[in-house]
Parts: sequence; structure tokens; C-alpha cells
Amino acid sequence: MKNMKKFYISTSIPYVNGEPHIGHSLEFIQADVVARYNRLLGKDVFFVSGTDENSLKNVQSANKAGQEVKEYIDEYAQKFQDLVKDLDISLDDFIRTTEDRHFKGAQKLWSLLDKDDIYKKKYKGLYCVGCEVFYNEDELEDGCCPEHKKEPEIVEEENYFFKLSKYADQIKELLNSKELNIIPENRKNEALSFIEKGLEDFSISRSVERAHGWGVPVPEDESQIMYVWVDALSNYITALDFAEDSQKYQDYWVQAGQEREVIHTLGKGISRFHVLYWIGLLLSAKVPLPTQEFIHGYITINGEKISKSFGNVIAPYELIERYGVDATRFYLLGAISSFQDGDFSFEKCDEYYTANLVNGVGNLTSRILTMAEKYTKNLVPPVEHDVFGTEDFWVEYKKDLESFDFQRVIKNINSLVARVDGFISEQKPWEKAKAGEDVNKVVYQLLEVLRHLTLALLPIIPSTANQILVQLNIEKNTLKLNELTSWGLLKSHTQLKKSKILFPRLI
Ligand SMILES: [Zn+2]
Repeated sequence: MKNMKKFYISTSIPYVNGEPHIGHSLEFIQADVVARYNRLLGKDVFFVSGTDENSLKNVQSANKAGQEVKEYIDEYAQKFQDLVKDLDISLDDFIRTTEDRHFKGAQKLWSLLDKDDIYKKKYKGLYCVGCEVFYNEDELEDGCCPEHKKEPEIVEEENYFFKLSKYADQIKELLNSKELNIIPENRKNEALSFIEKGLEDFSISRSVERAHGWGVPVPEDESQIMYVWVDALSNYITALDFAEDSQKYQDYWVQAGQEREVIHTLGKGISRFHVLYWIGLLLSAKVPLPTQEFIHGYITINGEKISKSFGNVIAPYELIERYGVDATRFYLLGAISSFQDGDFSFEKCDEYYTANLVNGVGNLTSRILTMAEKYTKNLVPPVEHDVFGTEDFWVEYKKDLESFDFQRVIKNINSLVARVDGFISEQKPWEKAKAGEDVNKVVYQLLEVLRHLTLALLPIIPSTANQILVQLNIEKNTLKLNELTSWGLLKSHTQLKKSKILFPRLI
């Protein structure tokens, strides 16, 4: 792994005060596709997720449930870890912010902040416990928190503040030069307009009392606990043992001597904190910055935000049970916008599944392998030329994947599937075979395009794609995408395996 190009990608870390829902799944899957794709390119990838366990919300939820905080948090953190496994998310690490390595790392980051950037101030404000955010009067809707539809509390205390205002110009320059590349563009513009309005300094600690003693203690001040942003955001580096200045941190975050690729994946609700706060903190601490932040929208259910209080939470397991893991991944990436909000319903999901997986990829794979079985005795015929424009397909594929446009990636895959289906209907190999004509040419073209499709599907629906690779008798460990996207690499005389049903019809 020494000389391989390093690549870092993270998801945001959810609170552990509730069950994971399909919104969490979307982000895990998006980041996973990018991680898997970059591994296929031959990069040495570090893919990390975790749980935000120091929030006051967790303490409150535990109290409400009548459980010890630690016990409660362990239980819910486990649910997220289980989901990660069940969605086939290829994480390299999972950081829990109650871990020692996180405490030490967060405290180190605090200590590295420029001393001129931290000051203590008496603060009185409207505080939403749900958001853990102080709101300005004009940000409230009918006097309530816009997220929780609840009246905020008036809280007064002395906290440490961070001088974000000092970094406004620097952050603006980073965004405009794309040194910090925000995807999509409208999220970047949103951040720029925040800067235009004037960045306010923000609180980076709270009193031990308000935090119920739960969280990362501020170095050298026993009266204060770190506030959520310095604490939670630092997980991205504490997971790499930042506290120890480890080799891991040097390799995957600092990435000296290469064009750095350090990517955060997050939802639009926390973009301000990632694009402005986190960057300000890193600039102050003189720690290298992320290079890209990909910001997705929310999944809505009938137009409403997913929320426990609306009672419209859909557990990812409802999808996994109905469609299977790969189909769940395929649906969330293909049918939900990669950048804007997207609406979910089981009805739409059923339709999408049947159209694109049962009748699409699944049926096509089975058609092609059945023809090979019938007409060429399960052997790959001699190499023939490309009639599907796979070269252009790959150009688009890479461009779309590298710009996080998962929906377009899948759209192009679906339209390649449709083109191949059209080709079969037009060529009618069964008629040719009946008339005693040679169908070797057509069968090769179909098998080879199936190989291309399968490669394209590998990061998206890994387990199904691997199953097709087995049927095509292609060894998994030899895969390196750039060397495999030329036409004609499926060797003639390769022994194929019988086809299996990949996506069963819904009952
Ligand atoms: Zn709120």
C-alpha cells in the first residue's frame, strides 16, 4: 500500500438518539460508492464514519428512556454499526466520539487553535436543545425552531467563542478558487452568501452544568465542556489518531507529496458548519483542509422531512427486506436526486425496482447468459468489435461519478441496458440460430458489453456485480478499473457459468 495514491472520504456522524432511517442510508451509500470506485482505480482509500455521542440530545434521550447514558449510547451506536454492515458499506473505520482517541484528538485541536481566536464571552440567547444551536430572533418561524417547531429556551452563560469572522476572506477565497471544492455549486453559493452577510463568531464551549458533565472537557478549564462543533467535527481527524500525529493521519489526511483528495460527505442541514466553521477551525489550528465537500439533499416522505415527530420514519430494513441490499442501494442512488431533496414512496420504489432491476439489469444478464448457454455452449466466442459505444459510456461514467452525480451514473447504466435490449430485439439471435446462421458475433458482443455493465455496477451494487463476474468467470482480485474498460478484454474460450435470477419479481 506504500506507493499507492491515498484517498480519504468520510460521512457525517449521526447523533445516536434514535433509530437510523433511510436518510442516513443514502449518505452511507453515496460515500460507499465513491470509496469503492476509488479503490477500483487502485487508490489506497480510508473510508470512515462514526457516531456523535457527546451531544446533549443523547443525554436527554437516555434520561427519557430511563437508561444510563453510556448504556443507551452503546445500544444506538451498535444500531448504526449494524446498518453499515447490512448496507454493505465498506468502511475502514468507525469512530465513536466517546472514544479516548477522539477525546485526545479534539483536545489537541482545541489546543492548536490560535490563542487570539478564542475569547470568553457572556452570552444570552435563544437556544434550541434539539438543534443545540442558538437562534437569532429572525431565524425562528412563529417563535419556534424551524427544524423542531418548538419554542427555544432562553439560556445565559459564559462560553468560549471562536473568531470565525477573522477567516471570512480566506474561506471566500478557498471557495472561489475551488481549493475547497463544494459540490453542488448552489451550496457553495449559499456559503458565499453567508460570508457576504458577515460571519458571526460562534460558541465553542458550554458550561459543565448545561452539558450535564457529558462531553469532551475543554483543556485547562474545568468549568467548560466542548460545544458540539469543535468536538463532533474533529472526528474526521481524530479517527486517524490525530492526537498521536500518527502515520495514518499523515498518510490519509496530510497526504504530503501527492495531489490531495480529502472528501467529506454530508447533508444540507449541516453544510454551514462544514463549509464555514470546520474550515475556520482548521485554518486557525494550521491543520490541512479537506479538498472537497459533497452536500446532498434530504429524502422526504410525501414532501415532508423525515422526522420522529412527524411519525414518518422509514427504517432502512423495510427496504432491505422488500428489495434486498443491492436494490436498496440502486434505488436510493438512482431514483433520489444526488443534490436536491428527493421524495420516497414504496409505490415509486416498487416501480423503479421492477423496471430497472427485474426487467433491466437482471433480465438482460439472464438473457445474455442463456443465449451463451444455448448457442455457444457456455463458451465465449472469438472477439468482435464494439457496437455499444462503451468508450463514451466510460467517459460519462467517470465524469459523473467524480462529480457525485450518482443519479446520472445510474441513468446512463439504465440507458445502456436499454440499448443492449434493443440490439437483441433487432438482431433476433434466436431466428439466426434457427436458420443455421452464425450467432457467435452477436453473442460475443453481448457478453462483452455485459462485462462492461458489470464493472460499472461494481461500486453501486457490489454483491450482485460480483455474482455476475463469477458467471462471466472473471477473477475479482485482478480488477483495476482503468485497465479493464477497453473493449475486447473478455477472452474467447472462457468457460461461462449458468445464469441465476438476480432480482426476483415482487410478490
Ligand atoms: Zn431545533
